[in-house]
Amino acid sequence: MEKKSKVLIVGGTGYLGKRLVKASLVEGHETYVLYRPEIGVDIEKVQLLLSFKEQGAKLVTGSLHDHQSLVNAVKQVDVVISAISGVHIRSHQILLQLKLRFLPSEFGTDPARMEHALEPGRVTFDDKMVVRKAIEDANIPHTYVSANCFAGYFLGGLYQLGTIMPSRDSVILYGDGSVKAITVDEDDIAKYTIKSIDDPRTLNKTVYIRPPENILSQLEIVQIWEQLIGKELKKSSISAEQFLSSMKGQSYAEQVGMVHYYHVCFEGCLANFEIKEEDDGVEACKLYPEVKYTTVYQYMKRYL
Ligand code: NDP
Repeated sequence: MEKKSKVLIVGGTGYLGKRLVKASLVEGHETYVLYRPEIGVDIEKVQLLLSFKEQGAKLVTGSLHDHQSLVNAVKQVDVVISAISGVHIRSHQILLQLKLRFLPSEFGTDPARMEHALEPGRVTFDDKMVVRKAIEDANIPHTYVSANCFAGYFLGGLYQLGTIMPSRDSVILYGDGSVKAITVDEDDIAKYTIKSIDDPRTLNKTVYIRPPENILSQLEIVQIWEQLIGKELKKSSISAEQFLSSMKGQSYAEQVGMVHYYHVCFEGCLANFEIKEEDDGVEACKLYPEVKYTTVYQYMKRYL
């Protein structure tokens, strides 16, 4: 049997990162998790790291601010997956000098398709493109994972911003709610990501996670929820113009989030293109049909 890649996960204590650690261990990879001295006395994080250790992961101390510590960490592995929080991601040249496959912290909308994105939300895409450019300029083998919408944020709120528990009374639709988006269970994102790291078909490619049954409009998601609770929600609607003008006066972070929702829910930026080989795109659900992904219907049952 071919030897499985050794993996270092940076950001392993994060929302997505902890799922990546778990999926990597389940798939039998020797798994290293970066333990940053910066976490100080954050007892929850330390406990989480210890639980990874118990499950067979190796903790390696290192910081993105300490070059040598990172070099030591990445020397031990074949693949680095970064899932650090979006706002912190910059071009970390340090990792790029080494010959390993790198999966930068992406896991959302494909930034290469967001040149037209609005301010200030475009910062996420611009930053992710800066990292891509550095990776490609340095000829680092890579895989970009475009994971579309995290289910916990988007399904929990019936695609409404600022709420992550579905209402049993009412919902505000973006326009007529008919624009298609794509939602993925975070544990499935982790599984597909780990599947991709030893796969030559994903080398230097963008892996799009598009579970066929989860390509749904906001209205279709609301209907699934209505079916589950056996009740119709009161529906109102907000136009794109109203939505964008409601950004004024919001905090910077809120405005960034609103722009992302605008592109997903009004423009349909996740599902309005075909994945093509000539664009270096591949589709995770086609590559790994053995993964039984969680459908929107199954995911939403947990809110009952
Ligand atoms: P989290 O905010 O949960 O991740 C925090 C992690 O980042 C922690 O492990 C933390 O490590 C690490 N971290 C924070 N600052 C630094 C730093 N300066 N140096 C090194 N590590 C640092 O992230 P998410 O899981 O929410 O996001 C991961 C990716 O997923 C991002 O690229 C984000 O854009 C994307 N995303 C996509 C969404 C979607 O719907 N598609 C939704 C949300 C995120 P430590 O514990 O050591 O401090």
